[in-house]
Amino acid sequence: MSEIRNDWTKEEIIEIYNKPLLELVYEAATVHRKFHNSREVQISTLLSIKTGGCPEDCAYCPQAARYHTDIETNDLMTVSQVKEQALMAKSTGSSRVCMGAAWRNVEDGPEFEQVLDMVRTINTLDMEVCCTLGMLTENQAQRLAEAGLYAYNHNLDSSEEYYKEIISSRGFDDRLQTLKNVRKTNVTVCSGGIIGMGESIEDRAGMLIALASLSPQPESVPINALVPVEGTPLEDQQIIPIWDMIRMVATARIVLPATTVRLSAGRTEMSKEGQAFCFLAGAGSIFAGDKLLTTPNPDVNEDMELFNTLGLTPMKPYAKGAKPNPVNPDEMTPSEAEKAKWSRPGHRIEKNVEATKKANKKRKEAL
Ligand code: SF4
Repeated sequence: MSEIRNDWTKEEIIEIYNKPLLELVYEAATVHRKFHNSREVQISTLLSIKTGGCPEDCAYCPQAARYHTDIETNDLMTVSQVKEQALMAKSTGSSRVCMGAAWRNVEDGPEFEQVLDMVRTINTLDMEVCCTLGMLTENQAQRLAEAGLYAYNHNLDSSEEYYKEIISSRGFDDRLQTLKNVRKTNVTVCSGGIIGMGESIEDRAGMLIALASLSPQPESVPINALVPVEGTPLEDQQIIPIWDMIRMVATARIVLPATTVRLSAGRTEMSKEGQAFCFLAGAGSIFAGDKLLTTPNPDVNEDMELFNTLGLTPMKPYAKGAKPNPVNPDEMTPSEAEKAKWSRPGHRIEKNVEATKKANKKRKEAL
């Protein structure tokens, strides 16, 4: 029942999902207790470091430039703004900061360098640093790892089949490629999806199969309930019943036993009792703060009250992995754009590494 498997079939997962609810929750709770400390729940803070104006067409997202939503767009935050927010999050129990930028993909250049500085800064605060910045090359993943990134989030969103209904501006394989690029580094992988977008139970199972078949499985799987936002193509979707969320969390818990299953967007629509059920079913993390990127989220005091009622404690940073050791910026892997302009393999002077180091130093001083 609880070994890690990468060969789940759709039929098996649907059978688990459709079990009598209490039996399903009992089974998930048993797996949870075998692999995790069920008294601890991680509090994470999601920070939108660059909001809106995204060229992608994710049907659920108010940050897509093509939809007419009333979100306030913002340029990339400064490193000191991010530090201030991170310290505030730490003081209210968060052990992880996840920085989200509404980008299709990361572009090498000053903005990426600024994000690398944010990563280094939060790492010094003894908080796990996560980023969600869109598609990532192997080189960029490596540079984030060297800066001290703990996790990279890139959601699969849904099953491969239903994905096409939700996003057309990039493919499911592009997503998998980014996850592969992250996996080549020591950064942990965070990838999950959203339910309530009109998908079937087969699609929910399909998404879990795609995640479970990754080897190793992602360390972290956020399960989001759609928050329908006016102006997006999914604005008229019904809020999903809490029972669907409990079933999805429990099924994820069983299929991905060692993974941290994160109860993510949509909590404002869930009762306290509903959330308690999700914790029992194996949710090991919540996102705190009054906003999740651009959508509403419960107040942090309400969360602490719920933790007290349920006897839960906030998880400490690095409870499930070692703190990354950042590389000195001068010794970091150069970005694709900064790679040596010439190289002469086999010669004593092979490439202009010194020039690259100097350029890195100059750029750092300019920030
Ligand atoms: S989910 Fe991300 S990639 Fe998709 S539109 Fe929103 S910000 Fe852009």
